[in-house]
Amino acid sequence: MTTHTTASHAADAAPRHDWTLEEIDALFALPFNDLLFQAQQVHRAHFDANAVQVSTLLSIKTGACPEDCKYCPQSGHYNTQLEKEKLLEIEKVVAQAKAAKEAGASRFCMGAAWRSPRDKDLLAVEEMVRQVKALGLETCMTLGMVDGEQATRLAAAGLDYYNHNLDTSPDYYGEIITTRTYSDRLETLATVRDAGMKVCSGGILGMGEGAQDRSALLQQLARLSPHPESVPINMLVKVPGTPLENAEDLDPLTFIRAIAVARIMMPQSHVRLSAGREQMSESTQALAFLAGANSIFYGDKLLTTGNPQAERDRALFAKLGLHPERRDTCEDDTQHSERLAQQAQRNAQAERAAALAVDASV
Ligand code: SF4
Repeated sequence: MTTHTTASHAADAAPRHDWTLEEIDALFALPFNDLLFQAQQVHRAHFDANAVQVSTLLSIKTGACPEDCKYCPQSGHYNTQLEKEKLLEIEKVVAQAKAAKEAGASRFCMGAAWRSPRDKDLLAVEEMVRQVKALGLETCMTLGMVDGEQATRLAAAGLDYYNHNLDTSPDYYGEIITTRTYSDRLETLATVRDAGMKVCSGGILGMGEGAQDRSALLQQLARLSPHPESVPINMLVKVPGTPLENAEDLDPLTFIRAIAVARIMMPQSHVRLSAGREQMSESTQALAFLAGANSIFYGDKLLTTGNPQAERDRALFAKLGLHPERRDTCEDDTQHSERLAQQAQRNAQAERAAALAVDASV
């Protein structure tokens, strides 16, 4: 009974940015069923519980990255047999974006393995944004660190989202990356937000971090104000040749708990079940959706690691009664909030109707 009351309050509460580590640890420590119930309530208060936003990701420049992220096959520091590619031609990117749209994606994400973009690259990238957006897709890019001028240019080209992950906790960061700092990451995130773009930022679990690091990562993400619109929670994909190729497996149930805690802490964000999905059973994915994940990458490749193909995803959606979230790219934030409010009202009505039906049947 207590859990139910607490969960109801959590579902209604305004987004918070001041979560303490003790509070986050307490969420992680809840009995699994209580945690998922609370996450579902928060989820249903803000979203259509059966809609999943679908993005497609294309690597527009692959490999030879000067950064040394220990999980990444694209780092030039490790020999991962990855075929390096220069920046893709604009026409190729647009052709891929068209295919992604036909396959049902509403957002097209483009990733380049750079520490930060050079000016001449930025010109090409701006054109990609314009042309992909003209197809009616939302656009997202991940290009490394950007300064204020670069961010302003990308926003002016029409870039909707900028992806820049915090990866792990501030304390564990130095174990994973030494070529940049946590504050570099936070600075780029602030720059992107200041330029008016939406933020996509999350992390990777299963890199040998401790429970405390998972809590601290979520705390850092929730400190961002507003919360990132999109929060990818990745499970490490252990790529041979990277320093983390033999990392110990993370219990999938710990991963599901992290999704649920992220959902509760960042109620209005899309929580994305991201890299590592190919290695997950359908049951684990189903639990992730139940825990509040409502965004995935599908089709094509997730940067350079495999991702289940669109057909398999469609079959899973059908099994679970999920449908791709349709979001009009012209919808502004007020319209988005209004639509969510209407959705919450419909959910509440449906819940009331279900409760009455149960009462009537007893
Ligand atoms: S994660 Fe990004 S920044 Fe790090 S090595 Fe890979 S491509 Fe470079």
